[in-house]
Amino acid sequence: MTESLYNISGFIFVAGVIWGIKLMSSPKTAEKGIFLSSICTLGAIVTTLLYNEIITVFHLWPPVVIAVATGYILAVKVTMIQMPQFVALLNGIGGGSSALVSLVVILDHFPTMSLFNQSAAALGYIAGWITLSGSLVAAAKLNRKLKQEPLVLKRHTALSMLLLVSSVIAAVLLLTGPESLTRCLLFIAGGTAFCFGILFTLRIGGADMPITISLLNSLSGIAAAIAGLALRDFLLVAVGGVVGASGFVLTQLMCSAMNKKIWSILTGKTRLLSAGAGESVSPVRERDADDLAGIIRKAQKVVIVPGYGMAVAQAQEKVKDLSEALLEAGKEVKFAIHPVAGRMPGHMNVLLAEVDIDYERLFEMEEINPELSETDLVIVIGANDVVNPAANTAEGTPIYGMPVLEVEKAGHIIICNKDTKPGYSGVDNPLYTRENVTLLLGDAAETVVRLTALLK
Ligand code: NAP
Repeated sequence: MTESLYNISGFIFVAGVIWGIKLMSSPKTAEKGIFLSSICTLGAIVTTLLYNEIITVFHLWPPVVIAVATGYILAVKVTMIQMPQFVALLNGIGGGSSALVSLVVILDHFPTMSLFNQSAAALGYIAGWITLSGSLVAAAKLNRKLKQEPLVLKRHTALSMLLLVSSVIAAVLLLTGPESLTRCLLFIAGGTAFCFGILFTLRIGGADMPITISLLNSLSGIAAAIAGLALRDFLLVAVGGVVGASGFVLTQLMCSAMNKKIWSILTGKTRLLSAGAGESVSPVRERDADDLAGIIRKAQKVVIVPGYGMAVAQAQEKVKDLSEALLEAGKEVKFAIHPVAGRMPGHMNVLLAEVDIDYERLFEMEEINPELSETDLVIVIGANDVVNPAANTAEGTPIYGMPVLEVEKAGHIIICNKDTKPGYSGVDNPLYTRENVTLLLGDAAETVVRLTALLK
């Protein structure tokens, strides 16, 4: 394959991936978008193998088959709730791949490369190790293999900076020092970068984790793009650039959705828990079925707020039944979607689309908040942080300053949560003690059915 053909087909594949990402922004076209991006990625891999004349190299294929089979099995087995840690793991694998590509480039071609390409290889090597270790810690935290709370060691910042600076110095020496020290310097640069990634992610926790994952996603793309520069491979630069840029945009969007500054997250400024965090709030207000039926029947305008608990309970089908029963009873029904509800961006949209809830009924926080004061009834299903009014007042807590769904302005609120413990951030929810709130505690899959039955 000629270089021009390689570049032209690379351009087409990258454009296809970008178009696929565009299609993913609506549930109606998301499947097509995923298919298009996957096909283009496969095309890019095959083209790379053809261009480098390695498609017939036999020992390349057993690892490819193992990787494809592992990826397939993991993707089939992973549940929607485990998706964030799975994404974190995939980011880590991306970072690790960039580190290995850079390592091979350094070991095989370093002396013959220009200073620019040498610097790119060294940078890709460091960025790759940071992404790998940071993503592994993030995945372990999300999977509760490590404590979710931020872990701050003695002199954490100083230690982190020392590791990062050591890594950069080792990389600079790699460019300027004698060839005999290459392996030793590679070991120091990689090892310290790896440890920096661990310390960097250990100090982040709670509600700041989604932003960190998105940032690591961006870093994995940047590491790949830098490795592409070192290899002088246009396709790798472009694909890495797409991942890096989309991860960065997502990070920005999530920061603005949670009203946070990326710097305050990275330096661990928003992580104190409120007093009493982790305990149930009392008193709790539960009502008998007749009272509850009366509240629902009286309501004309109803807003349903889904959250992480709906995903845990896999209650989306039951929620659809509830919304249909409300519609049949002649009520206006809308769904309020908070940008960080659940455990990954778009989590609620995916679950509701899965059961064919009309996308037109889904409203973003900014659209629905002004309507909540005119809403007769809000039904919260497994959501806590995203409706927690303490986000406006509890300074120093992980959710302080995060815009939330102002459900307390509605006429009445029914909360179908498992219990009255705090949500993901560990911050107590004062909603539970409000006058206009009814609690229907227990598994949402069961409590939502009870609510629906009241309409019949
Ligand atoms: P949340 O604050 O975690 O609250 C979920 C609520 O559902 C909790 O009260 C929980 O009770 C309850 N619950 C759990 N299982 C249930 C079940 N089977 N039936 C009924 N209720 C159940 O979730 P959220 O309000 O959706 O807020 C999302 C939080 O996750 C935010 O703090 C956000 O920053 C963070 N986050 C978001 C992302 C993202 O990208 N969307 C990623 C990672 C983290 P228990 O507490 O007792 O289990």
